[in-house]
Amino acid sequence: MRDPVTAYVALGANLGDAAAAVKDAMARIAQIDQTTLARASSLYRSAPVESSGPDYVNAVVEIRTRLAAPDLLARLQAIEAGAGRERPFRNAPRTLDLDLLLYGSGRIDSERLQVPHPRMQQRAFVLVPLAEIAPGRVSPAQLKSVAGQSITLVPSDPGHGA
Ligand code: AMP
Repeated sequence: MRDPVTAYVALGANLGDAAAAVKDAMARIAQIDQTTLARASSLYRSAPVESSGPDYVNAVVEIRTRLAAPDLLARLQAIEAGAGRERPFRNAPRTLDLDLLLYGSGRIDSERLQVPHPRMQQRAFVLVPLAEIAPGRVSPAQLKSVAGQSITLVPSDPGHGA
């Protein structure tokens, strides 16, 4: 059997109850076969980048998975589809967006999957939550380069524990 790989997934939602959509997606990721949820960042709020509509709620999770990267992507896309994502036009506001950021130290460059995610270095809403749970994967210089982008912590929900 394949050894487990540490991978990072970015979550974002900006329609309806976006915080609830992100938390629900975390629970669904924890249920993916051959996969365990190791860590979840706080929830953050950010203004849309290359998109429109209300602010996004964003987070990053660390998982350990025995799935191959394309199989993991397929599971993540099934969770997106289950959240009722519609794509009336490119970068339309979306219920739930899941991006595979890192898969071990692997580099993947296929038509359907690029890892590390090609735009992660330009996005505070990815780098800030990733740095919270995996400080070794984000350098101070990378964080500095996105410091102009507005991102704030979502106050934690009393009773939720986080
Ligand atoms: P988006 O609409 O931004 O979520 O893009 C989804 C498309 O990006 C899908 O067709 C995926 O096959 C492709 N894609 C390429 N690399 C990745 C990645 N690392 N994580 C998620 N989707 C990816």
